[in-house]
Amino acid sequence: ELNQVSWQQLDASHHLHPFTDSRALQQKGARVIERGEGVYLWDSQGQRILDGMAGLWCVNLGYGRQELIEAAHQQLQQLPYYNLFFQTTHPPAARLAATLAGILPGNMQHVFFTGSGSECNDTVVRMVRHFWAQQGQPKRQVIISRKNAYHGSTLAGASLGGMKPMHAQGGLPLPDMVHIDQPYYFAEGQGMTPHEFGLERAGQLEQKILELGPERIAAFIGEPIQGAGGVIIPPASYWPEIQRICKKYDILLVVDEVICGFGRTGHWFASEYYGLEPDLLCMAKGITSGYIPLGAVAVGERVAHTLIAGGEFFHGYTYSGHPVACAVAQANIEVMQQEHIIERVHDDIGPYLQQRWASLASHPLVGETRGLGLVAALELVADKATQARYSESAGAGMICREHSLEMGLVMRAVGDTMIISPPLVITHQQVDELIDKARQTLDLTLSTLNN
Ligand code: PLP
Repeated sequence: ELNQVSWQQLDASHHLHPFTDSRALQQKGARVIERGEGVYLWDSQGQRILDGMAGLWCVNLGYGRQELIEAAHQQLQQLPYYNLFFQTTHPPAARLAATLAGILPGNMQHVFFTGSGSECNDTVVRMVRHFWAQQGQPKRQVIISRKNAYHGSTLAGASLGGMKPMHAQGGLPLPDMVHIDQPYYFAEGQGMTPHEFGLERAGQLEQKILELGPERIAAFIGEPIQGAGGVIIPPASYWPEIQRICKKYDILLVVDEVICGFGRTGHWFASEYYGLEPDLLCMAKGITSGYIPLGAVAVGERVAHTLIAGGEFFHGYTYSGHPVACAVAQANIEVMQQEHIIERVHDDIGPYLQQRWASLASHPLVGETRGLGLVAALELVADKATQARYSESAGAGMICREHSLEMGLVMRAVGDTMIISPPLVITHQQVDELIDKARQTLDLTLSTLNN
């Protein structure tokens, strides 16, 4: 068995990491994570770490769930792979499609399987344009998204996403993908009430539609709560207004629930919380608790009907609806139902986490706390009275993230916004541990920034 240093050396010599500054890896070496159990990880130095991010917002049932492992094992023995192309199906895909139809919002009765969230969003682009072409409106090509959105790393995903550094690498966005401002009240809502701000930001959709011409617009896409953009929880006025505008101009509404889906907000999907009736809905991550890659695009009846009537849709992935992934997703959903995970997040552990998280608002470094269900964020500020932020060069968020790991807690930093999204099975006692560690992290961060 290799030791930590050997893993780090192999890694630094041969492995190009996603979303990582490789120079830091060369200098410091990567943190080597070796094992997980429940909400905890263990690294190669034997440190126990509370995973406040559930991996990348996905390990919803926690690490080491035997039901999921057993489902994968059984399916690997029964049929480890077969494709769904050319009029073929297999029981795990058919069963999971029906199970999803039973928990999806509104009138969504069909799903298209992919291997990831990014592939869902690529699928969405082709599906909505294909839909409009079949409706005799091929000019409807434009998809409107939002600044700072994250929709994945494929060409379409990164284009729909509104991350400037991603656009800068690779000449994105692709044509006919445009972005309006995000509903980020803390940073951009000065001088307005949340209600007014929500209407103003949603109103930008109508302005953009009129600017480009409604006959050119295919769809609007948004995460119910922007995740990677900093857990941006929109004011209550925002989503109803977006929905109204989409209906008014007959524009398809696509919700990207890759993070929000599968219980994160205390509902199967955040669309329920916001009263949304999406035409398409993307899911991945929590569908298998991250144990194995799988994504799915849920398709509302209008689009599904047109797709089905239109003959072959020339689109699909080798791993669309991979049988082992579908079996794990099925087991994941069944465990969530048996253990009443949604109700637990909604009525019990979600409110408890939010109440405890809100107590951090009194810390001198914290300008705002916010959250819903089991996702939450706080804003680091240099001056609590004026809410002024630290300069970018101070690197407050990064310092906080590093101190948090030293304390044995994974928090994520988006600029100076600190984020948590723990496994949905976290206990009250573990929430207390998370909050204690977060508070100590803030203390350490403040003293580092002051020195
Ligand atoms: N959409 C959202 C909202 C996401 O948060 C992510 C990943 O973080 C994706 C899409 C991309 O999913 P994947 O990394 O599985 O391709």
